[in-house]
Amino acid sequence: MTTTHDKGRNGANPYEMALEQLAIVADLLNLDPNIHEFLKYPERELTVHFPVQMDDGSVRIFTGYRVQHNRARGPSKGGIRYHPNADLNEVRALAMWMTWKCAVVNIPYGGAKGGVMCDPKKLSVRELERLTRRYATEISVIIGPESDIPAPDVGTDPQVMAWIMDTYSMHKGYTVPAVVTGKPIPIGGSEGRIEATGRGLVMIANRCSQMLNIPLQGARVVIQGFGNVGSSAAKFFHEVGAKVVAVSDALNAVYNPKGLDIPLLLKHCVRREGTLPQYAEGEVLTNQEMLELPCDFLVPAALGNQITSENAARIQAKVIIEGANGPTTPEADRILNEAGVFLVPDILANAGGVIVSYFEWVQDLQSFFWSEDEVNQRLERIMIDAFDEVVRTAKTRKVDMRTAAYIIGVGRVADAIITRGIYP
Ligand code: NAD
Repeated sequence: MTTTHDKGRNGANPYEMALEQLAIVADLLNLDPNIHEFLKYPERELTVHFPVQMDDGSVRIFTGYRVQHNRARGPSKGGIRYHPNADLNEVRALAMWMTWKCAVVNIPYGGAKGGVMCDPKKLSVRELERLTRRYATEISVIIGPESDIPAPDVGTDPQVMAWIMDTYSMHKGYTVPAVVTGKPIPIGGSEGRIEATGRGLVMIANRCSQMLNIPLQGARVVIQGFGNVGSSAAKFFHEVGAKVVAVSDALNAVYNPKGLDIPLLLKHCVRREGTLPQYAEGEVLTNQEMLELPCDFLVPAALGNQITSENAARIQAKVIIEGANGPTTPEADRILNEAGVFLVPDILANAGGVIVSYFEWVQDLQSFFWSEDEVNQRLERIMIDAFDEVVRTAKTRKVDMRTAAYIIGVGRVADAIITRGIYP
């Protein structure tokens, strides 16, 4: 069965999906209808169309967005995506999910997201820099260390963050490291930030393994996406003795039931699309075939809309830990629930990135930097406390993990709105 919000892998509108998830929890929380209505809309949406001079002398117009969903709990926070499909509805959904994510792990931020519709793989480094500096200039009217702090997401990396920080600082006339997170370490980045999302995800996997009695040692793991999140998750699963049997990028997946040579793939294939079959010993599959492999842990860590009503019934994983944002549609959630699959939702599972981004911002504001051990210990405490709280809520309210995480996240945001009152 397909609903209006689940039109298979390519047709779903992520913002409608986010609204449907919100509606489910608004009912359960008996949320004041006025607050529900307020939360349906982003507080601010900025659309920018801007010119970039290409290397051949021509000029191309690009479209980008910065959306701030809610700022009741603090400045808004969220990544910037460079992708051909980064349209306004996708950015709105991602901004809303950031609001819930920051609330569920209880860090003092609201949610935002940005995007530029482009294929960064088709741009030269100089074109990417010019595009980034112009986009940063266009959105500089609403970003800032006290108002809205971007970070990396799909298609962007620490270098892109460095250009944004530099551009913003040039306009101000002084250096403002805290305007973005995910920066390189020499300019105010944090130890542990690059791997934080994958590290946090495997901390959660470890907790699931204890709770569900699925030992991580020898556990079969399938990971979709071999970028920042997918590759670091693969690294930490491998380090704790799990058997990563399949990984993929946008072009293909590789599968070896005996386990892939993860250190070799980490050395050659991260963010280098199409290179996996060259280095992996195993069968080459499509992304779709890979998602349906028998395994203990399935980690979607690429894009949204990957597990839908079309394929959910064929998923054989015991546990799904969502590294990507929005990989599972609400319809697929129902199918997986009925099948008894234990799913840790994106707003909890991939929160390691924003948590260490928060640490980076705190360190920048204080100009006082922490060791990687301190970062990782604090990350673990927040991830495990949040996971345990969501498990307790799921048990007491008799709901699945996504709904429980939403009950906590949406509940905290609603409390902040009520406590602050409606201005003026
Ligand atoms: P990335 O650009 O580093 O990597 C993306 C990976 O997905 C690449 O391996 C790419 O080849 C693959 N991919 C792209 N299109 C695909 C497709 N159609 N099918 C299968 N694979 C495809 O991005 P990232 O930072 O690793 O982000 C991945 C996901 O994790 C996104 O949903 C992002 O929003 C989410 N996320 C990222 C962070 C972070 O800290 N970077 C934090 C939280 C959540």
